[in-house]
Amino acid sequence: MVIILNHGFVPSEALLTSFKNFQIQYKSYNTGYVSYIYVLPQRENKTLEAWLSYFQKEHFSEIKEVLWNEKTPAIVSKIDKEKRIRVGDIEIGGQQKCIIAGPCCIESYDQMEQIALSLSTSGINFLRGGAYKPSTSPYSFHGLGEEGLKILQSVALKYRLKTVTEVLDPRDVEKVASYADILQIGTRNMQNFSLLHEVGQSKCPVILKRGMSATYEEWLLAAEHIAAYGNENIILCERGIRTFESGTRNTLDLLAIPYMKKRVSLPIIIDPSHAAGVSEYIPAMARAAIAAGADGLMIETHHDPASSYKDSKQALSLNEFNRLMHDLNTMNLSAFFM
Ligand code: PEP
Ligand code: MN
Repeated sequence: MVIILNHGFVPSEALLTSFKNFQIQYKSYNTGYVSYIYVLPQRENKTLEAWLSYFQKEHFSEIKEVLWNEKTPAIVSKIDKEKRIRVGDIEIGGQQKCIIAGPCCIESYDQMEQIALSLSTSGINFLRGGAYKPSTSPYSFHGLGEEGLKILQSVALKYRLKTVTEVLDPRDVEKVASYADILQIGTRNMQNFSLLHEVGQSKCPVILKRGMSATYEEWLLAAEHIAAYGNENIILCERGIRTFESGTRNTLDLLAIPYMKKRVSLPIIIDPSHAAGVSEYIPAMARAAIAAGADGLMIETHHDPASSYKDSKQALSLNEFNRLMHDLNTMNLSAFFM
């Protein structure tokens, strides 16, 4: 059993005395945002029940919630339905769809400039690009680091775009947040708890990608880790999961959209690029995601896909991306959102 205290409360003397009086063993924690008390398994259940009814009455004002199951995403499941994530004048999770596009990696100023010049005329809100790249192989390109962040920031400013970029290491969170408008947590880090806690302490909105083998429950609990450390500006991102299917890089689980909409008020966006692994399937999945109610899309785009340092097969060319944006704009979305 877990007792979560209201924001700003730490266990009072009176509260701890009631634990002692009933000989209830516990361990208390403070995330810096919420305090919670883990009630250690008790031998006598009857004592616990009597104690709990007394305890809840006596300490009502301090307690936010008593969880019988610690695997409850208590904070994220209570986020207000009307809550929107605001980045400048962009609102994520409302009527407007958020479109994030750009290359897998930031390669050079010229590369980002050519891409942003075209994307900025096609109606996107966010320019993406990785400066710190997670790689399965230790010998791959790992990104330009801070130099890449500087390129992303200056090109985005020039074209009046907001930015999204991945952070890999808890030690880099503050630095990356000082350049970017949204932090991205990649699939390989969905359960990197120290990273989740660090972005939880940041004010910067976070895109939390689903772990490639994570269940919905694990994904929501990862979001809870961020929220429990103080940051409720979380955007879920489905990017394809591992299944037995080997025809595509991953399997895009669009059911995640209605499922998450039912469970939580967090916005959910779809990344069809890392799901498909090849560019030709991306437009169909992007249209399907919007039709299914996604709050936005993240799509890898490159001015010369064949020369992309990473994920070159899945990058849409600028023309292909423009065509997709045109198709999305002509979809009669009102039919789907009634
Ligand atoms: C990316 O967005 O380039 C990326 C590495 O994504 P994922 O974590 O989904 O593989
Ligand atoms: Mn990529």
